[in-house]
Amino acid sequence: MTKTVRPLLAGNWKMNGTRASLDQIKAIADGVKAPLSEKIDTLLCPPATLLYVATALCDDSPLAIGAQDCHQQVSGAHTGDISAEMIADCFGTHVIVGHSERRRNHAESDMLVRAKAQAAHDAGLIAIICIGETAYERNSGQTLDVLKRELIGSIPDGSTAQTTVVAYEPVWAIGTGVVPTQENVEEAHAFIRAELIQRFGKEGANMRILYGGSVSGANARDLLEVPHVNGVLVGGQSLKAADFLAIYAAF
Ligand code: PGA
Repeated sequence: MTKTVRPLLAGNWKMNGTRASLDQIKAIADGVKAPLSEKIDTLLCPPATLLYVATALCDDSPLAIGAQDCHQQVSGAHTGDISAEMIADCFGTHVIVGHSERRRNHAESDMLVRAKAQAAHDAGLIAIICIGETAYERNSGQTLDVLKRELIGSIPDGSTAQTTVVAYEPVWAIGTGVVPTQENVEEAHAFIRAELIQRFGKEGANMRILYGGSVSGANARDLLEVPHVNGVLVGGQSLKAADFLAIYAAF
């Protein structure tokens, strides 16, 4: 890991969680304690319905709360959408954009993801911009081309290490229990780092690059050892406090 970059452990609850799950959020908030919390940042992204109450629960905790998506505009006639400003208004500090489930299920293009990330920046939020190849793209040797296209297309100009996190999530590793080899992760992260430095210079050198896809307490340490892995984005294993905190303990 690039030791100069402060790591981030981020959880993505996806479309899971009701008021009955607030005890898990509270337990995570209570569990991310010093001394480890002085060295790493932690974030949980519950569904939008729990955002406001979750931030209230985390008042005394270093655990940050974020959202899973935002609209690219500030307000208007967009039934069902939420804006980055609304997330900030609920005291959310981060928003995930361009998750492969949104790219696939809502036909989100790189251009749209970039507009969403820009909206996040404009609202003072940190954008976690997801990229990653499908199994078909990997098997046909297109992985690095896909990553390059998504990086160029999805990250706004003017992004900095403070405003932007990149999450490398191979689509075939999400929710499957299949984790890429350390060599696969290393190749992708080194490539992403080089691209970020080329475009953003020093900011690109310090931007966090998370790995995501079937991360668990059992494999987190191996993944975190890989150069340029500056943290993880966790789906299934972030739902229960015990699982989230097992990953936290691996840092
Ligand atoms: P997973 O999801 O950890 O359940 O594989 C990761 C993600 O989609 O961010």
